[in-house]
Order: sequence, then structure tokens, then C-alpha cells
Amino acid sequence: MARERLYLFDTTLRDGAQTNGVDFTLNDKLTIAGLLDDLGIDYVEGGYPGANPTDTELFGKERLLETTFTAFGMTRRPGRSASNDPGLAALLDAKADAICFVAKSWDYHVRVALETTPEENLASIRDSVRAAKTKGREVLLDCEHFFDGYKANPEFALACAKAAYEEGARWVVLCDTNGGTLPHEVEAIVTEVCRVIPGDHVGIHAHNDTEQAVANSLAAVRAGARQIQGTLNGLGERCGNANLVSIIPTLKLKPEFSKQFEIGVTDAKLKDLLHVSRALDEMLNRAPNRHAPYVGESAFATKAGIHASAIMKEPKTYEHVAPETIGNRRKLMVSDQAGRSNVLAELDRIGLKVDRNDPRIATLLDVVKEREAIGYAYEAADASFDLLARRTLGKVPSYFDVVQFDVNVEQRYNALGERVTVSMAVVKVKVGDETLISAGEGNGPVNALDVALRKDLGQYQRYIKGLELTDYRVRILDAGTEAVTRVLIESQDETGERWTTVGVSPNIIDASFQALMDSIVYKLVKAGATA
Ligand SMILES: [Zn+2]
Repeated sequence: MARERLYLFDTTLRDGAQTNGVDFTLNDKLTIAGLLDDLGIDYVEGGYPGANPTDTELFGKERLLETTFTAFGMTRRPGRSASNDPGLAALLDAKADAICFVAKSWDYHVRVALETTPEENLASIRDSVRAAKTKGREVLLDCEHFFDGYKANPEFALACAKAAYEEGARWVVLCDTNGGTLPHEVEAIVTEVCRVIPGDHVGIHAHNDTEQAVANSLAAVRAGARQIQGTLNGLGERCGNANLVSIIPTLKLKPEFSKQFEIGVTDAKLKDLLHVSRALDEMLNRAPNRHAPYVGESAFATKAGIHASAIMKEPKTYEHVAPETIGNRRKLMVSDQAGRSNVLAELDRIGLKVDRNDPRIATLLDVVKEREAIGYAYEAADASFDLLARRTLGKVPSYFDVVQFDVNVEQRYNALGERVTVSMAVVKVKVGDETLISAGEGNGPVNALDVALRKDLGQYQRYIKGLELTDYRVRILDAGTEAVTRVLIESQDETGERWTTVGVSPNIIDASFQALMDSIVYKLVKAGATA
């Protein structure tokens, strides 16, 4: 049986951009649009031309994209004609394939916020849709506060939706603007709407204020809606929008949906999903959510030894879908609960060939347990585990030796009379027969140490040029008699690969130093540097 087409509409660049602290440049927007296009998203909403210089520039010229690139804006203002509204004119002039209008559909908002009559609101919808159709654009109408509006006055909410549909809008999108509607309500209300407007013209735009934006989107599809609006990683103001990164694999991998529907994302492109999700985090300079469904680093991680041995035999025993389908991977964590099977599986994954009966495997397991008891966390620090394993098996060259370092923190008044804190570090490193001394300044002692350490590693300098620290996390642990500090450092290199290293000590500088050293040595090992 032919499957029905379900359309995906991404609004990361418009609704997602309304998040606190998110400020996309023109280049950022073009990059994300390119990733979404390549992934197979049907509609990409780029922004609000006329509302800010970035969006006006974005819509100032054509782009070479397959996706239906969409401009967002308001319907004509009450009391004005469509031809005499500068906001609408900017929208109609935008170089976009489609226009998504937003209009009120809750009579209370029409009265209080818009201060106009229900009739004028309906006329504004009709006029705006007609004007955009005349310009040859595909038209969508976002019905703002649709669900709250429907509960208050179903006739009026439906009249707004119908006005757009009858005027020729391709999609009427039901928005849960406040994000407070629950899945069973969405399903019931969308069912009613689809009696009046064919479901293949109905879309859902859900917000996550009860953490059910994904569930609400799926409920709307069950009730007949055929377009889902959402954002990458659920980006969006307050609690975010519906997360397309969770919705896409659910539609592709869960038979209830995959048997009935087809989406623009192919099986091959689904494997890029993790990459696309991480690319957005990177652009926003955020650490990825480890526990994100499908794409999180922990989404397919197993800790207990007994589960691990079952997973090795038959992954289906503990996994709801295969991690490779979305570009993720199975992770068997090496921890104090670990059995031999976890360690063997990890050695396998990092490509260390070792005989299963090698006595050094037992030694490695003992070392891991001992070190975790004093605060190390290897399940979170894959690169430090990798090095520990290689060292236990005698496979890490001795590249360089930090003979001495000194870190100094100074607080003083600067030339402008402001109180500033500056840090400086001096590092003495021995590389072969050469002794190198470097100094570095930073906004804190660890930053200064990192700068000094990576300034000059002699013959190894070329390997670490692309190395970058992307995250630094500190935790104070209560380990028996005294408190110790655990530092986790996440690094990244020019290939985009990320890894995490760990250091533990009563002294935060020492703990950071260990993690920094592991990160650099890991990079050298990975690059195949020889001593
Ligand atoms: Zn929204």
C-alpha cells in the first residue's frame, strides 16, 4: 500500500532564534538552512524579513536550495488595505518560495491584543492570503493560540482556519502558542478540525511547556494533520519547540508511523541526524545534551556488567532501535560496576587488538575500579579510558615531559582604575633533548595553563594546532576523608571529533592539569605521532 506523505517544517531560524542568548548571523542561518535542506526537510522557515537587518538580507537574494524556503510575518494590520501595509509589502517582496502568515484565532486576543472585531480579523486573513497567492507564493497560515482559542470559542477559531483554507492557503497550521495543551486534547481538537479542513492541509506547531511538544505533534498526526513544525534540538523560547531531532527517527523507525507515512528524510540521510544536531550545538557554543533521545551520547549507553554481556550477544535485548540508524553508537560504559565484557567491548571499539585471555585485561579492570573509587569517571571520559587502556597494554609513547609549571593569579587595578583578575602560567617542557619554556595568559588559572602548555610542544606542535577545549566541568566530590575535585574537559579537533578527559585531585589546578595532559596525549596518539 502506498504510504501517505507527511511534511516537515523547520522553524529553528525563526521561532528557535527567539530563544534567550541565541543570535544567528547571516552565515549561521545559511549554514543551518543548508544542513536542513540536505537532510530532506520540506520547509525551512528562514526568518521575518523586514523585522531585522539579518532577515532582510537573508531574503534579499535567492538561495540554491531544494527546500521550500519560507518567510514569516503578520497578516495585514486591521484597518489598512493589503496594498497599504508596509509590513505586508516587505513580506511579499521577500525572495521566498512560501509565506507563512501568523494570525490570531482566539477571539479574546482579537479583542484585547489586536483591539479589532472578529470580522476584521477574518478579512485580514483572507486579504493577506489572497495577496500572497497573487504574488505566486505558496501560503501557510499559523493560527496563533489555536487550541486555547478553540476551547474558548470553537466557531471563531475554526472560522479563522477556514478563511485561510478557502482563500487557497496550502497549509493551515494549528499553533499551541502557550504550549500548555495536552496530547489527548490535541488529538480531540485536531480530529474536529479535520472534519472541516482536509488533514493534508493541516499542520501542527507545538511548544514544550508541559514537555509534550513531541507527543502533541504525534497526536496531531494520529488525528489527521500532515505537517509537523518544529526545531532542531527543540530550540525555542521558554521550554522550546517540538524537537524534530526526536520526531524524525520516531517517524522513520516506529512501525505505527513508518508503515503509514513517508517523509522527505531518507534512511541514508537519517544517519546524518546526529551530525546535524551537534552542528547546531556547536554553532550555539553549547555542550550537547548527553541524555537527548536518539542522538545523545548516553542514549545507547549501558553501565551494568550483566546488561553489557547480554547486549554483546543480542543488542535488541536493551535497545529500542539500532543506534547506527541515526548515526549514534552503542556505548558500554566502563565503570566500577563493569565486568570483563564491558572492557572487552570498549577495547574492541577503540581498536585495541588484545587476546581475550591476556592477564593485562584483569589488571586494567582493577586499575579502573581503583581509580573510580577515588573519583575518576571513565564512563564520562572516553579518551582518558582509551589512554589508560593503552598505557596498561604498553602502547603509549612517551612524547614529552612537563618538568615544572607555575600558575599565578593576580588581582589589581588596571589603567582604567577597574579591578581585574589576571592569570599567568609558565610551563617547562622537555621534548626529547630539548627543554622548552612557554608562558601564557588567561582569564583564569586553568585557561592560562592550557595556553602555556599548548604554546610550544616542539616537534609535536603541528599535531595539536587544531585542538580546542569546548567544555570544562568541575565537581567537588566527597571521597572518604577529604573533598576532591573532579575535572572533565571536552576537546575537539579540526576533524570535528570530540573527546572527554578526566582529572582528579584535592587541588583543582592539578586535576585540570591531568585532564589537559590526557587531552593532548590522546590527540597525539590519535594522530599517530611517534616518540
Ligand atoms: Zn511558536
